[in-house]
Amino acid sequence: MSSPNIDGRAGERSKALFADAQRSIPGGVNSPVRAFAAVGGEPPFIKQARGCELVTEDGATLVDYVGTWGPAILGHAHPEVVEAVCQAARDGLSFGAATAAEVEFAERICGLVPSMVGGMVRLVSSGTEATMSALRLARGFTGRNKIIKCEGGYHGHADMLLVAAGSGAATLGIPGSAGVPADAVRDTVLVPFNDLDAVGAAFEANADEIAAIIIEPVAGNMGCVPPRPGYLEGLRQLCDQHGAVLIFDEVMTGFRVALGGAQARYGVIPDLTCLGKIVGGGMPVGAYGGRRDIMEKVAPLGPVYQAGTLSGNPLSVAAGLTTLRILEQEEPHEALEAATTTLCAGLAERAAKHGIAWTGTQVGPMFSGFFRSGEVWNYEDAKGSDLERFARWHTEMLARGVYLAPSQFEAGFFSTAHDAAAVQRTLDAADAVFELLAKG
Ligand SMILES: *Cc1c(COP(=O)(O)O)cnc(C)c1O
Repeated sequence: MSSPNIDGRAGERSKALFADAQRSIPGGVNSPVRAFAAVGGEPPFIKQARGCELVTEDGATLVDYVGTWGPAILGHAHPEVVEAVCQAARDGLSFGAATAAEVEFAERICGLVPSMVGGMVRLVSSGTEATMSALRLARGFTGRNKIIKCEGGYHGHADMLLVAAGSGAATLGIPGSAGVPADAVRDTVLVPFNDLDAVGAAFEANADEIAAIIIEPVAGNMGCVPPRPGYLEGLRQLCDQHGAVLIFDEVMTGFRVALGGAQARYGVIPDLTCLGKIVGGGMPVGAYGGRRDIMEKVAPLGPVYQAGTLSGNPLSVAAGLTTLRILEQEEPHEALEAATTTLCAGLAERAAKHGIAWTGTQVGPMFSGFFRSGEVWNYEDAKGSDLERFARWHTEMLARGVYLAPSQFEAGFFSTAHDAAAVQRTLDAADAVFELLAKG
């Protein structure tokens, strides 16, 4: 009997597909990090996903910690979510008109996210749309232009947010992408994550000009970096003091680090919240919402324009609504966190056993392992990791059936479908890979 194939590295078929892909799609991928540029090698192509597992085009079965970059908190292809989408599809894919389901969806979201209780929410189709719309709204509401964001913070690919991370003491933005006019980021002020003094200084230097702070309350796009105690409270205070809108970008943390997101977990209520990923249950959905007096500025109620042909389309709403309903009914967050802690403790223990410098971070079912010693509180710290070692770790874990995000600067995601066997398989693989890395 042959044992199941778990070598997830690109085989013949994935390599052939990737070669084809590169002819017709830039870099062969429809989102850059999928290309494996940071870890080398070629990406395996995915044929199927169920529960906590992915099946590649080469026939390997892998334990998945990418979870489609966050949405798959119930695991892949959850039967109830799939059924809801199929049912919705039979009734029509999109009407571009109001539906009963989107009202139910909006009410459920507003009931779960503390900053939206008694407020309003607008559905869009991606996290990027949510953040750029929330910022337009904050600017329209305050009549101010400048925004504050963190180095290493990711809020989608709108021009004003593509500012070179880690540009040190720079307070004025520099385009982080070709094609972004300098003027588009002139009003973006950069601060390091977890540094309240820097935010205070930014407010002083731009008195009465800051429309909003946009922040991931738990950073997830420099790897997982938790907020220091008091940091979010301090941001709330500074925004109140200076009349700026506090925007939590909970595209990644929403419904993940707690049912009510990071704002529920830490008890700090922003003015506006951006959602994505889990809110769509695997379909393209984003949302922004919060304080009623601010949301009343959105068209057609107010002067801030924002629209979308497919916004609130029935398939996305069905997937999102069903996902949120299951999360609300099953309340899995405590168990998810405990299981993630078991995984993280196991990884740290095995790293230590083999003398590998490793700093683990975790908030609920979101985690990272940085290849460095010492604490990680911001992008500078994260960048101090041994990226070559991470690349080898990634390749060798993949060879042993564990699919991790192909970058040190991404978080791992645990789901309700990850069982003890999946965790054990991961830890066994990690033990072998750490041993390999220790040999140099
Ligand atoms: C993924 C992500 C986005 C962008 O969402 P898209 O749906 O990819 O446009 C924005 N903010 C955060 C915090 C994210 O993790």
